[in-house]
Amino acid sequence: MANIIDGKDYSEKLRNKIKKVVNILKNEFKIVPGLAVILVGDDPASKIYVKNKGKQTTDVGMKSYEYRLKKDISEKELLDKIIELNDDPNVHGILCQLPLPDQINSDKVINTIKPEKDVDGFHISNVGLISTGQDALVPCTPLGCIMLLKDIYDNLSGKNAVVIGRSNIVGKPMANLLLKENCTVTITHSKTKNIEKICKNADIIVAAVGIPEFVKKEWVNDKATIIDVGINRIKSEEGKYKIVGDVDFLEIKDHVQSITPVPGGVGPMTIACLLSNTVSACCKINNIDIKKLPDVKSF
Ligand code: NAP
Repeated sequence: MANIIDGKDYSEKLRNKIKKVVNILKNEFKIVPGLAVILVGDDPASKIYVKNKGKQTTDVGMKSYEYRLKKDISEKELLDKIIELNDDPNVHGILCQLPLPDQINSDKVINTIKPEKDVDGFHISNVGLISTGQDALVPCTPLGCIMLLKDIYDNLSGKNAVVIGRSNIVGKPMANLLLKENCTVTITHSKTKNIEKICKNADIIVAAVGIPEFVKKEWVNDKATIIDVGINRIKSEEGKYKIVGDVDFLEIKDHVQSITPVPGGVGPMTIACLLSNTVSACCKINNIDIKKLPDVKSF
């Protein structure tokens, strides 16, 4: 049986570390990190995400600012809100929940957020910094994956890593982060041929496809670590809905070295990384070297 990577436990430890830093910032610097989340429309799933983000933000002692805007808001009104938050000294992180309604250009919205407050790491400046291997605000889900991998391996250098999926929010930044750790990285996508064969040689597979239980037992080797980013809602044989990943967990778990479960693997890491990004942004904006704070080398 593989080592089951406990993202819930890791994310709890990360939140405790964040809490400590927030306390230091409050007590020694009189600064309270603040995260602003904008939700346009009333998509039920997005509403739940935003509520969770708000709760976890206040749980670690930070300030949460939530803006619920009408579905038919104009692009200009949304951009004006972002500009206002860009200039607000109490706000250190800004996130606009995606997807946005059709009348709004998402790229324009993302690129209006000040790069230093772009805690989702989607702004073109942060994308450029990541792809050139420089320090940046990194998209939360890939950041969570790399933290879990670094926890398993002392050194990722030379590992053969395969990323399945090339989205801007997961696949591409994930590949760049692995490259920064000196992995040999292969990115696969819907037009890739012989994907099974490519995966079979991998030390690390990160699956971000959006297809339930896509990665099968025949694709993996027994030394591999599998990071499953997928969140798919499917109907079970009993007619009930359940969440599964992009990896066939039950089939694979006895045939690999380590694997993240779904739920309880990558999922819990994402919001924790949003909080760590907000604290990092707050420190940078206020010229505080986070690495010099007691007990905190880095997140
Ligand atoms: P996405 O934007 O839909 O991208 C999916 C990627 O998978 C695309 O690059 C696509 O290739 C590739 N793909 C599709 N079919 C394929 C196939 N047959 N073989 C190989 N590659 C294939 O999805 P995403 O936003 O990256 O999300 C991926 C999954 O992660 C989803 O289940 C999502 O719910 C989940 N997710 C989880 C979190 C979290 O917090 N845990 C966060 C974000 C996303 P093409 O580019 O060629 O179309």
